[in-house]
Amino acid sequence: MISRLRASFSSIVAAERGHARLSTLFYSSLFAEHPDFRGLFPPALDQLGHRMFRALQFVIDNLDDEERVLGFLAQLGRDHRKYGVEDRHYFAAVNSLLGAVQGAFTQAIWTPSLTTAWTELIDLILHTMADAAAADDLPATWGATVVDHERCLDDLAIVRLETDSPIPYGAGQYLSVQVPQRPRMWRYLSAAIPANPAGQLEFHVRRVSGGWVSPAIVNETRVGDRWLLGSPLGGLEVDRDCGLDVLMIGSGTGIAPLRAQVMEMAMRSHNPRVHLFVGGKYPCDLYDIETLWHLSLSNPWLTVVPVSEEDENPWWHTAPAPEAPPGLHQRLLGQPGRVVAQFGSWADRQIQISGSPAMIKTTLYALQRGGTPPHLIRHDPLI
Ligand SMILES: Cc1cc2nc3c(=O)[nH]c(=O)nc-3n(C[C@H](O)[C@H](O)[C@H](O)COP(=O)(O)OP(=O)(O)OC[C@H]3O[C@@H](n4cnc5c(N)ncnc54)[C@H](O)[C@@H]3O)c2cc1C
Repeated sequence: MISRLRASFSSIVAAERGHARLSTLFYSSLFAEHPDFRGLFPPALDQLGHRMFRALQFVIDNLDDEERVLGFLAQLGRDHRKYGVEDRHYFAAVNSLLGAVQGAFTQAIWTPSLTTAWTELIDLILHTMADAAAADDLPATWGATVVDHERCLDDLAIVRLETDSPIPYGAGQYLSVQVPQRPRMWRYLSAAIPANPAGQLEFHVRRVSGGWVSPAIVNETRVGDRWLLGSPLGGLEVDRDCGLDVLMIGSGTGIAPLRAQVMEMAMRSHNPRVHLFVGGKYPCDLYDIETLWHLSLSNPWLTVVPVSEEDENPWWHTAPAPEAPPGLHQRLLGQPGRVVAQFGSWADRQIQISGSPAMIKTTLYALQRGGTPPHLIRHDPLI
């Protein structure tokens, strides 16, 4: 059954604009049958459709790891409460999703066994999401106030908030965020510090050129803005029982969930060894390297290795690159994944990768090519 599901989904992935066709078919059928559902979603559906496709891809890719898939779907169900999605919406979506998969399928014949396999999978997805949402007694959303907005680079800001009540997220997790400048356009951001009883929260946000939300956060956020946050998602965490040391590779704002985890580890007395590679295109993209150097100076289990693809900052960035304190690793040159892979197979580590989807894919490829077994590697879903 798994191979049948994978083969049929690959045909959609391989088709030109297959992902867009799947999501268009899904939403048009859903809203045709239930016009009242339209008001739950933002006016532009492209991001939502893209995320739905990526979520399906994640489920299909991990079908042989039931625990991972069910955990992911449960988080997604809890997160969907922010839209006001309820049980009846899930059950109404079954036929639309099956019809969309069938309509986007590009191989010659859609067989009855495919109908059975997809019906079972869709049932599992929607039931797991609905059950997790119904069982969750935490709020669907949390309010938070911006208390600081620091523009570290022209296109990058650190935003600090205080939540109305503490959010119980784990270091390494990400949250859905809605900002007042872009109502109903939820985006995921990774928490850059561990949860704390004061409800302080920090996000590192890079402006994506042409994006809807990130330019508004970087350019327009003001102290006092009220943000809305959804329930925590993601499973990046250090396994303290497996006996393996840790390799973390982060690039750009992708360092946020890794930083939160090493900060949390710094509060404990015993930790596995951690090698943290911090990457960026230019030296200035290592905007938080000094915090990480400070952490490594007081925590001997932590080794921080800066990596940049270019040796010089771009001409418009005039501040000099920070120098590594004596005894710490000097900056290495290259794409982070390739630099890490040059050190060998890392087959004796638990590994986390965090960054843009392109960086994650390149790093995965470089590590696997260097002999690292894929089951040791974790990253957030590319959604
Ligand atoms: C698990 C997870 C955690 C995340 N954590 C963070 C974080 O801590 N900090 C942070 O800044 N961002 C983070 N992101 C990315 C963030 O959720 C948004 O996707 C990003 O800010 C762009 O949103 P936007 O509305 O500006 O662009 P959109 O309007 O959503 O997209 C506009 C265009 O830009 C493209 N695009 C989107 N993201 C990127 C990108 N990274 N690089 C290049 N092109 C892109 C889109 O495909 C689209 O074509 C995370 C994403 C995920 C899935």
